[in-house]
Parts: sequence; structure tokens; C-alpha cells
Amino acid sequence: MLHSILDTLELPVERRHFLFRSTQTLLSAALLASMASYETNASELLAPQNTSAPDPVGKVSLPPLEAQTEQKKGPLPNPEPMEKRIGYAIVGLGHLALEEVLPAFGACEKSKVTALVSGDRTKALTVAKQYGVPEKSIYDYQNFDSIKNNPDVDVVYIILPNSMHAEFTIRSAKAGKHVLCEKPMANSVAECEQMIKACEDAKRKLMIAYRIQYEPNNTEIKKMIREEKYGKVKNIVAVNGQNIGDPSQWRLNKQLAGGGSLPDVGIYCLNTVRFLIGEEPVEVYAQISTDTNDPRFKEVEDVVDFQLTFPSGLRAMCGTSYSHHQSRNYRVYAERAFFGMDPAFAYGGLQMYRSFAQDELEIYETPKRTPKNQFALEMDHMSDCVRSDKKPFTPGEEGLQDMKIIEALYLSARENRPVQLKKHEGKDLFRGTEPKK
Ligand code: NAD
Repeated sequence: MLHSILDTLELPVERRHFLFRSTQTLLSAALLASMASYETNASELLAPQNTSAPDPVGKVSLPPLEAQTEQKKGPLPNPEPMEKRIGYAIVGLGHLALEEVLPAFGACEKSKVTALVSGDRTKALTVAKQYGVPEKSIYDYQNFDSIKNNPDVDVVYIILPNSMHAEFTIRSAKAGKHVLCEKPMANSVAECEQMIKACEDAKRKLMIAYRIQYEPNNTEIKKMIREEKYGKVKNIVAVNGQNIGDPSQWRLNKQLAGGGSLPDVGIYCLNTVRFLIGEEPVEVYAQISTDTNDPRFKEVEDVVDFQLTFPSGLRAMCGTSYSHHQSRNYRVYAERAFFGMDPAFAYGGLQMYRSFAQDELEIYETPKRTPKNQFALEMDHMSDCVRSDKKPFTPGEEGLQDMKIIEALYLSARENRPVQLKKHEGKDLFRGTEPKK
């Protein structure tokens, strides 16, 4: 009844919630006071199990189940009500969208899916039913621009082949929507610059979906490096490769993919090393090996080995490939330990490790952390930035910097020589607001 009274008042949702809670508290207090006059111990019956005062932001808590000595679980999830969440349109219903991103909304606290964009209406209708998206919020690539009239969409998440990222970012910005765009940001530096400008002109946010930068294990390693927990870092070795199948897929088409293993999976080594140490390379050197008789590699490269040299003198050796068994790891060599992640770049099952000396022992540890959904973390960060008008941690400039380095790596491989890059002083120069813990 209280709800229906408040509904008749034309107040903003937050104000109505506040009034509802305050009125509820007053009514409960009055009820308790009148019940106290009864001889029965009524106040004991009415008293909640947990006597702590209700939290004004609506969080709940539970008493700990395990002893203090056990691994801490962290706070309970604190999801926002659906009507308060930031709405996302998912563009492209391929592997990543269907296997990872759409299911990840279930783990989001601030983000919800409100629209779908696909060239296949039958598929879009099926997926819309699965995720509760109304039919009126299904678009195709032609009528996409009319999304500007959909108030339920705040952010467009672009999960299309790489060559389509620039076009859909620019169209989204023109439609007044913020953009979360998959990696690699685009197929060239020029496209990245156009995307940044389009979002700036439209005063919309642009974030590149570098999920590793939001993942807690990788963030912990970054902290270990930056705080020199095991002394100075001397070298980093990173590998991200996989054995690719069907030769007719877009990833093996130069025009659609922009390149082969380097912009698709090698970019994880490049972006993660930059994230871990915060510096920008001043020199790069790459070598490419491709068996052009393999039907998969008629247009794009297979194996790329590359070296990044940073202003501090630190070197990273990176490797990527489209023809070896999937391998996604890195190792950091510091003065008093080596440590890293294996796997580092997978969607799940990430594993940190470290090895250091203690008295007569060499300790090799594999610390385990309660897993978090990386896609949910990155989407909720974007939602935070939209709501508080902050620059995302991995903005367009971060994707542009990777693309500049990738272009330099291709030049280095073509001309078989090291290529120098502009020297940048300072750390984390292309990153925005740190994600909330
Ligand atoms: P996919 O091939 O499975 O899906 C691509 C979607 O785009 C399909 O629904 C397809 O129908 C549609 N599409 C529209 N026009 C197309 C065209 N001309 N050719 C081919 N497909 C077309 O690809 P995916 O694995 O989902 O990758 C999509 C994007 O996501 C890529 O940019 C990729 O780099 C990125 N990605 C990121 C991660 C990550 O972990 N962040 C993982 C995988 C892919």
C-alpha cells in the first residue's frame, strides 16, 4: 500500500525509495512501540535475527560461516535493481557475445542488456527471448542508427569483426550512445583516431574492452611489480597463441581482421606488459614466420616473435601464433623471485604463481583467489564511468597506443630492423579512472 501511495507522488525514483524506506522505518517503530505494551514478549518475536541497523544503500550482510583462519570470501554481491542499471546494446551475436558477454550480465551489478544488433533476425529473436530483450529493441546493421531513439540504451558494446569497429563506433557516437569496443580497437592508427574524435565530438565515452586490466589476479601482479615486492623487474616473457581452424573464417581474412595472430591474440601480450609496468616502449623489434602453403595463412601472418624495450631499460619478449596449441601465459623475472600467470589471458581458470627463496627452501606457490567474471567487471566499470562522467580506465587512447605499436611491429618485421617509437615520460599515460575495488 505504501508503494501505491508513493507512486501517486511524482518524485524521482531515488527520492521515492528514500521516502519508502524512511516511512517504513517510522511505521515499524510505531508498531513496535504499541506491541511493547502487551505482556507477551512481542518485541523479541518481531526482532530480526541480525540486529545491526539497516544499511541506507540497501546492502545485506551475513555472519561469517568459517573460522577467521580460512580464506576470506569478500563482500556479498550488491546488485543494483534492474531499473537503475546502465543499458547495453550488444552488436554482433557471434562467439564472444553468446558464449561470454551475454551470460556475464548475470554477474553484473550495474549493467543490463537492453538491445541486440544482428544481421540474422531469427537468431536475434531467439537470443532476445533468452535474455528478456523486447522485440522492439532488436536492430540490424542497416537500421542500427535508429537506436538513437531508444532511451533504454546507454552504451553500445561492439563485438564485430575488427574492420567493423570504427564504423559502428562512429555510428554509435552519432546516435548519442557511449561505446565499449572490443580489441583490437580497429585495423589502423587512422581509424582509431577517427573513433576517438567521433566520441569526443559527441561528448560520449569510449572504452576498449581490455578485460585483463580489470581482472584481480593480473591487477595483483601489477601491484607486486609497481611496489617492487621482489625487487626490480629484469625481464618479462609473455606468450599468447592458439591453433586456429576453418581457413574461411574472418580472422584469416586481411581486410576483415587487419592482420593475423598479432592484432587478435598477440595484442594481449603487448597490452598486458604495458599495463603491468605502466611504461611505453621506446623500441620494438619483430620477426614473423608464416608457412604460406598452409591454407589458413594465405593473407595473414602466423607466428610473431617480438621484443619491446622500455625507457627503464626493461625488455619484454613476446610471442604469438595461430598454429600452436593454445598457450596463454607470462612470467616476470624480478631480483628476488619469478612470478606470473598461467593461464593469464583465458576467460577462466586463471592461475597466479610465484617462486622465491626462504632459508634453505625454494618456495613455489600457486595462490588461489575466488574467480571473478572479467566481462562483468569491465562492463560495470564502463557503467560507473557513464554514471559519474569519468574517463574509462582503458579509453580509446589506450587502444590507439597499442595500434601504433602494432604498426611499428609490422614495419620492423617487414624491414627486419628495430623501430624506434616516441619516448613518453611517466606511467599510465593513456589510462583513465582506476576501476573501483
Ligand atoms: P565471431 O565470428 O564469432 O562473431 C562475429 C559476429 O559478427 C558474428 O555474429 C557475425 O555474424 C557478425 N558479422 C557481421 N558482419 C560480418 C562479416 N562481414 N563477416 C563476419 N562476421 C560478421 O567473432 P568473435 O570471436 O565473437 O569476435 C568478435 C570481436 O570480439 C573481435 O573483434 C574479436 O577480436 C573480439 N574478441 C575479444 C575477445 C576478448 O576476450 N575480449 C575474445 C574473442 C573475440
